[in-house]
Amino acid sequence: MTVQPITLIWFRRDLRLFDNTALQTAIRRGLPVAGVYIFDTGANPATQQNHRRQSFLYDSVVAFQTALRAKNVPLYVLHGQAEIEIPKLAQELHAAAVVCADEDEPQASARDNRIWHTLDAAGREMVRVDDQVVLPKATVMTHNGRPYTVFTPYKTAWQQTYSRCFGHWQPSDDWAALAALQAALPDAVCRRPRMPAPEEIGFTHQATMFAGGEDAAQKQLGRFLEHIGNYHLARDFPAQKGTSRLSPYLSHGMLSPRHLVFLAKQADSEGANVWLNELIWREFFKQVLFHHPNAAEESFRQEYRSIVWENQQEWFERWKAGQTGYPIIDAAMRQLKSSGWMHNRLRMITAGFLVKDLLIDWRWGEAWFAEQLIDYDLAANNGGWQWSAGTGCDAQPYFRIFNPILQSQKFDPDGQFIRRYVPELAHLGKDVVHAPWLARESIDTHGYPEPMVNRAEQREKALVLFKRNDQTE
Ligand code: FAD
Repeated sequence: MTVQPITLIWFRRDLRLFDNTALQTAIRRGLPVAGVYIFDTGANPATQQNHRRQSFLYDSVVAFQTALRAKNVPLYVLHGQAEIEIPKLAQELHAAAVVCADEDEPQASARDNRIWHTLDAAGREMVRVDDQVVLPKATVMTHNGRPYTVFTPYKTAWQQTYSRCFGHWQPSDDWAALAALQAALPDAVCRRPRMPAPEEIGFTHQATMFAGGEDAAQKQLGRFLEHIGNYHLARDFPAQKGTSRLSPYLSHGMLSPRHLVFLAKQADSEGANVWLNELIWREFFKQVLFHHPNAAEESFRQEYRSIVWENQQEWFERWKAGQTGYPIIDAAMRQLKSSGWMHNRLRMITAGFLVKDLLIDWRWGEAWFAEQLIDYDLAANNGGWQWSAGTGCDAQPYFRIFNPILQSQKFDPDGQFIRRYVPELAHLGKDVVHAPWLARESIDTHGYPEPMVNRAEQREKALVLFKRNDQTE
């Protein structure tokens, strides 16, 4: 008896129907398709412990399973080790090929290579396509064929390449072809695969600040597009909803990066152009990690790899808990802990504070963000941390040290954001809320701590630490 082969699509960080490269590639292969998503027990443990992120992902997978079912495409949802489960399912379903969107993160890429070997040995193809960014891997290189390490020239080259390749972008979604293929879906393929419960996957489901799924992503995108023209004016003020808040959806692929760039170009306002810049930062950090995978483990700049950080555990715990005595830092850290998200300006301030004021290894902070952020993305997180620490690619110089009080006065002038997350200070006026210990009269701060460090002293220590290593080059 001849069996009808299929194409198995392994969905990962591309949980959407619209402009999904793996899905459209599979359709073009001309066989019926089935999908699989796996909660991979071999993935980064920090992300598995992040119950909020897992909940967001879970809801998104449920929504995606429903959306695919409407197109007569079953989505198998598994929990286990991808290296075992994916080849096993491919065999069970007689898949001639497994198609997936490529991962540039070093660990995930190594895992995919191993799976490719297993599939190959069984006579199956593994087809990896680019989807996570608009201009992937080595598409944007210098004239000498080297990767860019400075953002501004990268951006110029990115824009030129984009105009050449994507001048008239439109999605190539072919739903009619899919419908025709799915009519021949073999009986061996279960049409309504079950969805494991959160407990089986090993997390407790929680409500999150972001609704899961592609529809929710599109709604949030629609809301943002109404004020994209204002982005450049509002983006730095954490008390306002001035940024898009699309990062969880971009991180996990409920939105197409090509579509977002297209929309930003189409809007063509000052706000939209500044927003486009941020999307290009995202691509910049992805290509940095692709060309320099070691940056995932150590400082990008060699001279800072031997810094001996003070790494005081108790200070780290106070930073994590939002108990440093610096109101803007504490408000930000409490926002992260309570919601799984933090405004970009605050990510920069809190990261700078951990490294330059507390003299704690940026990798500790990076790991805490990985554990907490719903939008966690290795390239963006690592890039952001190394930028803030001054150890990274095109980072701010080590001697530029954010002053949290000035930052607070500038970007939260009325203290609105602080009051939202630090109720102990909710009764204070804008003249004292940024630094209550400097108030002329004594005020009740309801147990809110005094500043945990003397910043002037810490600044000197940080400068010595970095300078010493600068000279060892
Ligand atoms: P918007 O301002 O609306 O920007 C639009 C999109 O562009 C974002 O959704 C994001 O995908 C991308 N983007 C914006 N800024 C950056 C940037 N600096 N680097 C890379 N991409 C960017 N972003 C993550 O997606 N995941 C992370 O784990 C992450 N960790 C960070 C850690 C630190 C220390 C720092 C300084 C930044 C980090 N960022 C990270 C980047 C940035 O803070 C967030 O992308 C942004 O705050 C998300 O909010 P938004 O969607 O409203 O952004």
